[in-house]
Amino acid sequence: MKITIIYNNEANAGLKSGWGFSCLIEDKEKILFDTGDDGEKLIYNMKQLNVEPKDIDKVAISHNHWDHNGGLKEFLKLNGNAKVFHPKSFSKPTEISPGVHSTGALGKLIKEQSLVVNTEKGNLVITGCAHPGLEKIIEEARQLGTIYGIAGGFHGFSKLEKLQGIKLIAPCHCTKYKQEIKQRYPAQFREIKAGDIIEI
Ligand SMILES: [Zn+2]
Ligand SMILES: [Zn+2]
Repeated sequence: MKITIIYNNEANAGLKSGWGFSCLIEDKEKILFDTGDDGEKLIYNMKQLNVEPKDIDKVAISHNHWDHNGGLKEFLKLNGNAKVFHPKSFSKPTEISPGVHSTGALGKLIKEQSLVVNTEKGNLVITGCAHPGLEKIIEEARQLGTIYGIAGGFHGFSKLEKLQGIKLIAPCHCTKYKQEIKQRYPAQFREIKAGDIIEI
């Protein structure tokens, strides 16, 4: 199982950064999770990372904020066949691809889904902005099994004790307390920027 960070506020050399998040999950199928805020930059980064838009089977949008769905239109011009899962599609956990579940739309004001990906080591939770509260997302994801890791935007999440026992913690995008998380969980913390790959 491989996750490639395509879009993020910070990027590795040769890639464009932008406010937003997008990653590609490659397991049995190829799933694009979120699309950043700018379609041109998204497609540019995909090319640099040898990700062929046409090869992507499915797209899941965490929530309808511009920094997550901004690149969708440009992407769909290059791939009109990918099935798109919007956050309002489900109100409870649903398998969107073999071994990949959506938590369903959580949150009251902003409906947001996160993905839970089965790996050999446990589940990897992938979040967009975590507006419903990362603790809520963790609680929901735990219904699907043990959490091995969490990656994505953690937003204003500050109940750091809730990350206890999680082996891989990779906050990026809108995470406000990244430094605090790093200090508290130095061995589990992983810095991720556009271009980085998580393989489990
Ligand atoms: Zn965001
Ligand atoms: Zn947002």
